[in-house]
Amino acid sequence: MASDLPYLRAYPVALQEQARDLLEQGQLANVLLRKYPQPHSVRSDKALYDYVQELKTRYLRNAGTVNKVLFDNKIHVVRNALGLHTAVSRVQGSRLAAKHEIRIASMFKQAPDEFLRMIVVHELAHLREKNHDKAFYQLCSHMEPQYHQYEFDLRLYLTHMEHAGARLWGDELV
Ligand SMILES: [Zn+2]
Repeated sequence: MASDLPYLRAYPVALQEQARDLLEQGQLANVLLRKYPQPHSVRSDKALYDYVQELKTRYLRNAGTVNKVLFDNKIHVVRNALGLHTAVSRVQGSRLAAKHEIRIASMFKQAPDEFLRMIVVHELAHLREKNHDKAFYQLCSHMEPQYHQYEFDLRLYLTHMEHAGARLWGDELV
């Protein structure tokens, strides 16, 4: 019986089959840990805010203001929601100002830097592009040339979590 791989449905069948083989051989975790041995060191919402601002300053200096950034334990990573970007428009004096918030699912507090960066880049790209279209993914790849590879590997991790449940990058040392 073939395992269902909901996080990988958008990928070519051959890639899904490779992932399924690794999963069934119990090798998926090893492959991910070998490729991404270290977790990132962004340990607080304040550190996450700085991390986001640094990327924004480098690539999207004029794309509005991100007012709030946080790890959110109420985001349940189901299918496509890895993070959330919200823009709330409010009247400020005589003009409309958009207030941007970026929330990252708290499971990515313990993850490699590459995965965190992929999610942050995704949410930042929404400051400029609303839809997941060609322009959106071009912007993502401009900010992180390995964006697509990291997204695929992150989805492998979600697949691992769904089948085995164990986190690969904990903070036991803390
Ligand atoms: Zn999105």
